[in-house]
Amino acid sequence: MKHVLIALSICAPFFSNFSFSQDRAYVKSMIDSLCAPRYHGRGYVENGDSKAAEFIKRQIEELGIDQPVEFQPFELGVNTFDGAMELTVNGVTLAPGADYIIDPKSAGKKGEYEAIRFKPKWANNAEKLFSMVADGKFTGKVVVFDIAEENTDYATLIGDVYKNPLKAEAYIILTDKKLTWSVSRSVVSVPIFRVTKSDATKKIKIVKLAVDQFFKSKYNAVNVMATLPGTSDTIYSTMVFTAHLDHLGRMGADTYIAGANDNASGSAMLLDLYKYYLENRPEQEVIFIWFAGEEAGLVGSKYFVENSLIELSDIQFLMNLDLMGDAAQGITAVNGKVFDEHFAKLSSLNMELGLLEVVKPRGPAANSDHHPFYEMGVPCFFVYTMGDYKHYHDINDVPANLPLTKYDEVFELMVEFMRAGI
Ligand SMILES: [Zn+2]
Repeated sequence: MKHVLIALSICAPFFSNFSFSQDRAYVKSMIDSLCAPRYHGRGYVENGDSKAAEFIKRQIEELGIDQPVEFQPFELGVNTFDGAMELTVNGVTLAPGADYIIDPKSAGKKGEYEAIRFKPKWANNAEKLFSMVADGKFTGKVVVFDIAEENTDYATLIGDVYKNPLKAEAYIILTDKKLTWSVSRSVVSVPIFRVTKSDATKKIKIVKLAVDQFFKSKYNAVNVMATLPGTSDTIYSTMVFTAHLDHLGRMGADTYIAGANDNASGSAMLLDLYKYYLENRPEQEVIFIWFAGEEAGLVGSKYFVENSLIELSDIQFLMNLDLMGDAAQGITAVNGKVFDEHFAKLSSLNMELGLLEVVKPRGPAANSDHHPFYEMGVPCFFVYTMGDYKHYHDINDVPANLPLTKYDEVFELMVEFMRAGI
């Protein structure tokens, strides 16, 4: 705790000659690169995440280093879809990502099956349903659900689908909702598809599917850390910027989820911040960490706090940046309601400098990589932008759609806030 007390007594500006001519072309090129096919959506197929980690390391080395970039490897179990991803209903081939998503917990399978539409009344008569299952009514078939998702029975049923309660070959869940994908660290025994309702899905009779799935029980991922030593020998506290480099990866061999906003944007901003601090050396040490495994459940950041490469008590403040793509309506600071002095500083700096429309506080939330640090007592914010950009965990979260509205303003606010050094 000693270092924290020292940190609290430091409040002078760390450096002068400020300039904020942000290099927009640099940030855009970093986002484009991180979203390129060669990084496979920075997920768990073709080691896309680790290749992105190597890319980040190379960028830092090209910008210039005082200390070697550190890699922190760790393992996780993860369900992956690295080959075939085909779903055809009544002879119409649907497009992964656009027409359907595979449930992240899904098993793989290949074959052609008769479809059976599930009737809502069956869900309300457990005894009858049980005897239907016992009689093999669903055996060898693909069960299609088309019930309003608000329906409670349906919700219960969906929860149960993971256990394959109908002893079916696969499940198709028809939906009007946006398709939002994710990553799972576990696997079930059947394939489950969420399919957007369309003319093709009206009367499904025959389903042809081919899904290659592989559960990787010991997948190797890596956190990346870069350190810029401060110019002063007497300041022991560290400011830390973090962002997750990983995303959802591939949904089959031909489709990947690029994650331009989530979180190529934050990863690129971290590189941009590194570049900035390299040219505007603060007295205080600055550390930059790109975490892997965030989308799988904050795995990389949890591993980091348990096996920290730095003294957690030396962290004066940690700023986690995720979803930096559109600050048209400002930013939200998760933990803003916890660290109210810090939040007051963030808010007043924003007003003084006339940067963003809104800087909104939130309570604690385990929704990004700041949280494991927060649980260890590290003062931190998770800042995300708010705007009209709604592409989240889907195939449309690509660089061409990302507006980067008020990117420079967010960047400036982050630097000024850290410089204020509460
Ligand atoms: Zn994210």
